[in-house]
Amino acid sequence: MSAFHFPEKTQPPHVAALNLPPNTSCVLLKKQTISVEPCPLPILQPDGVLVKVMATGICGSDLHNYLAGGVGGRPVTEPLVMGHESAGEVIAVGDRVMTHKVGDRVAVEPGLPCRRCINCKSGRMNICLDQHYCGAPGSVGSLSRFFALPADMAPHIPAHVSWDEAGCIQPLAIGVQIGKRADLRAHQTVAIFGCGPIGLIAGAVAHAYSARRIIACDINPARVEFARKYISPLTGKPIFDHVFVNKALPSTPVKVEAAGHKQGADPTPAGIADGEIVEADEHEESLGDIKWAHAEVAAARFLEEAGLSAEMGVDRVIEASGAEDCGLIGVAIAKQGATYLAVGLGHMQTNIFPTIAVTCKELDVKGITRYTASCFPSAIDMLARGVVDIKPLITKKYTLAESRDAFEAVRSGREIKVIVKNQE
Ligand SMILES: [Zn+2]
Ligand SMILES: [Zn+2]
Repeated sequence: MSAFHFPEKTQPPHVAALNLPPNTSCVLLKKQTISVEPCPLPILQPDGVLVKVMATGICGSDLHNYLAGGVGGRPVTEPLVMGHESAGEVIAVGDRVMTHKVGDRVAVEPGLPCRRCINCKSGRMNICLDQHYCGAPGSVGSLSRFFALPADMAPHIPAHVSWDEAGCIQPLAIGVQIGKRADLRAHQTVAIFGCGPIGLIAGAVAHAYSARRIIACDINPARVEFARKYISPLTGKPIFDHVFVNKALPSTPVKVEAAGHKQGADPTPAGIADGEIVEADEHEESLGDIKWAHAEVAAARFLEEAGLSAEMGVDRVIEASGAEDCGLIGVAIAKQGATYLAVGLGHMQTNIFPTIAVTCKELDVKGITRYTASCFPSAIDMLARGVVDIKPLITKKYTLAESRDAFEAVRSGREIKVIVKNQE
């Protein structure tokens, strides 16, 4: 697949004449083993640019790659250069490139679609069946000094966006895709589960889109505290209207008649849909029933803390924690006709899906994979115009030689966004 984007195997003479230093790179050798070592300089293609990488963000999927020694069940079989959230300066351009010149500041769009598969042909290149994605097995990543890519995958960034911010353009592009998939619009109430980088960025995007009220929660009190202090560049006030700590749901039967949430009660005022077969028999209470009953109690508390009535509910639920319990509470707080977006990656499977609530409330339940066309330009525009401020999220920076520490910092969960400075 990479051959499609990188057919030329010989470095053009004008790159050889640059006499560049070794292409020091962070290489995944096997599970939890990385090495920072010189790698071959990538070959500049006639339609490509060669970039001196200035900053690279490290995220949860990089961490997963590091811990598992591969992604999506595909273990690394040969040393793999990691990283996919990068930005840098163009130092050479291919012969056919008319859009870029040496010295341009660019971001790296890490996903190169095949453009030939059935999904690409239907315009959904983010779910390409044969995608070249930086840092995934088989595709060279950008956690290195130098990186080559097709020029059309290197959108320009203005001079006043710092390199540190530029290293966060890719997760902000994911935030824009969250906005698209969740259909975020002005005057909506948005609930976000998980106050990690993606949850915070989703909140910042919802705020830039003029959400009426933004609510967030996390199981980690330090992250809740952090979210409370995340200030909007537009208003000078916190982005989140309400942020609180949530807890895992118990798995023992609930005794809460007093709270008005009866087990097995209709999840919605709309009741059972036409044609629904209703089991009249007493049935054994499953773990799903027990968890759902607790989720309804937690949802009532959630809405109360956010100053919302049960009828109001929330218009958009963005589940960015990956926890099954948050998924249940998310469905329980969603109002009729709301959209629920699954963003977080938790367990590979869950046992509990609240089918009746999803049906009776007529929820749109959706997933999200990476980003689509226009997400990078939108993210860059948001940073350039100052409607989103990403700087407070960068809590730690490392040199390229310290890449292992950067991964361990993400693993610890203590930091929000970790950046590697590729030239330091
Ligand atoms: Zn990432
Ligand atoms: Zn494709």
